[in-house]
Amino acid sequence: MKFLEEYRDPEAARRMVQAIRRATTRPWTIMEVCGGQTHNLIRFGIDELLPEAITLVHGPGCPVCVTPVEIIDEALEIASGKDGRPVVFCSFGDMLRVPGSRKDLLAVRAEGADVRVVYSPLDALRLAVEAPEREVVFFAVGFETTAPATAMAVFRARELGVRNFSILVAHVRVPPALETILSSPRSRVQGFLAAGHVCTVMGYEEYEPIAERYRVPIVVTGFEPLDLLQGIYMCVRQLEEGRAEVENQYARAVRREGNVPARQLIEKVFEVVPRRWRGLGTIADSGLRLRPAYREFDAEHRFSLSYVSEEGPSECIGGLVLQGLNRPHECPAFGKRCTPEHPLGAPMVSAEGACAAYYRYRRP
Ligand code: SF4
Repeated sequence: MKFLEEYRDPEAARRMVQAIRRATTRPWTIMEVCGGQTHNLIRFGIDELLPEAITLVHGPGCPVCVTPVEIIDEALEIASGKDGRPVVFCSFGDMLRVPGSRKDLLAVRAEGADVRVVYSPLDALRLAVEAPEREVVFFAVGFETTAPATAMAVFRARELGVRNFSILVAHVRVPPALETILSSPRSRVQGFLAAGHVCTVMGYEEYEPIAERYRVPIVVTGFEPLDLLQGIYMCVRQLEEGRAEVENQYARAVRREGNVPARQLIEKVFEVVPRRWRGLGTIADSGLRLRPAYREFDAEHRFSLSYVSEEGPSECIGGLVLQGLNRPHECPAFGKRCTPEHPLGAPMVSAEGACAAYYRYRRP
């Protein structure tokens, strides 16, 4: 198949649904890892076409949702220019409405801060080159998918000798989060659809020991309706046959070793560290931080940060949603006190958030 329409062909989708129905003899719970997959599953009504025995739960694959409140607070402090230097704070659009302890980036912008939406870290670097008298900071959120572009911006900044550019790093790695979910005694996940985009960069070697250790099938899966249906079918086949392997549904984009130059760039610029995830706590080896050789570009080192985060009580159960323990409409605030216009939690803010997907495509 070469064109997008072919991955949305209704007749092929019907045949795949029938194949899933024939293959399913018992109840199974499968988690799709990526928020983009969640949106398409709900948007195209794929979950409603599946046999009742199959339950889909939604995973932690929304970078905006998992960025912890402390880093949002650091972003707010840097953006507000509290340490006296004029700052241009650059971020992807979704991050502007994610709540910190007391406010969000949109509020800081309304108070006069120069907060700009960019589409790439290289856009932020360009701003730094054009305005050498100002500190330009890029808020580097995202999984392994976006880390190579951040690494490239830092690498270029070093090459160009740019002194007024830095990044606030909140990049996270997916495999340790899957292990955290599987280690929980409350976990009901029996199989994963792994995120195709992340695997495009990283490949899937890292998933093989996880599948073996926890006896879970992991199917690297794309984003179109037929990708998702085929990924579910491959996962169900493994579950029914008692296999727990890593299989690649998304072979048109993903190789086992991933994108080797992109991996090497990540490796060169970042080191692996523990990282706190919103709703999931601190996960060993789940974060990326600039290596000491690139520390001059680390905003946490460049700015003196003093704010102490105080995450107050919240009725948001986003952490449980991100672990597949609850689904969005099971949250008492869903669609009432929490809407995209007035979000209580990040999963309702983000374009990839599970709560936003349910609200947008399927309000109960
Ligand atoms: S509906 Fe709102 S309050 Fe409930 S889990 Fe989702 S983001 Fe949090």
